[in-house]
Amino acid sequence: MKYPRGRQRTLAGEVEIRGYGLHTGKPSTIKIKPAPVDSGITFAKEGVEIPAHYRWVVDVSRATNLGKDGVIVRTVEHLLSALAGLGIDNAYVEVEGGEEIPGLDGSSKVFVQAIAQTGVVEQEKARKCFKVLEPFRLEREDGSFVEVSPNGGGFKAYCAIQYNHPYLDYQTTSFEYDSGSYSDDVAPARTYCFYEEIAHLLKKGLGRGGNIHNAVVIGAEGVLNGPPRFKDEPVRHKLLDLLGDMKLLGFPIMGEVKAFKAGHAMHLSFLQAFTDSEAYLLLEEG
Ligand SMILES: [Zn+2]
Repeated sequence: MKYPRGRQRTLAGEVEIRGYGLHTGKPSTIKIKPAPVDSGITFAKEGVEIPAHYRWVVDVSRATNLGKDGVIVRTVEHLLSALAGLGIDNAYVEVEGGEEIPGLDGSSKVFVQAIAQTGVVEQEKARKCFKVLEPFRLEREDGSFVEVSPNGGGFKAYCAIQYNHPYLDYQTTSFEYDSGSYSDDVAPARTYCFYEEIAHLLKKGLGRGGNIHNAVVIGAEGVLNGPPRFKDEPVRHKLLDLLGDMKLLGFPIMGEVKAFKAGHAMHLSFLQAFTDSEAYLLLEEG
């Protein structure tokens, strides 16, 4: 049986991670706990519970931020990507201290490693999923798009980026859930930025927790801060972000997802448009 078919999963035990936010630079601690079937992913801060669903997205400038009743949890996408990559359906994430999820090394590697230490368990109920019935695409005038199409079961994602930049122009990658390894091929890919945009980001109050250890800084000649983890690390990180944002659909997709030059804003618009479409069937039975 190919993912996303199968039983729901949660963590075997509790995991605690501390770190600094990539954008706010402020320290926070998160506790990721097991959660019951059909509860999904929930963030909790100051007594407010925010479901990890696109309905609660409040801001998508450079990161995906959720908010409810005046409480905000920032930069959830790398943690959500780890949960998606590990096939975890239900988890309860308590956020203490700062409102941003720890940025760590700018990838989802630390989340994956921490969760692997406690383990993942199957639960007593089948996972729900969106079975794609026909192609559905959201496209912008600049040629960027996100689309889904049916396949013979299973989940596969393709991602491509294109910049008008002397070092980073076009990169493409793909990930198939059953044959690929999220932990090895996607999770270690760090966030990236262009050297020219750093001053602009800081002026906007973003990237304050960024440093040479948690972001790949790209200059005209290449990566400025040490060897990249993969030759195509930027597009792998884009795929990591895509999987994280897709988690905000509530249930995984059975089908293929393709994203070209997309970012958080486009991912989220796509989720809304797809949910409103008739391109899928919500499968409830295993
Ligand atoms: Zn990212």
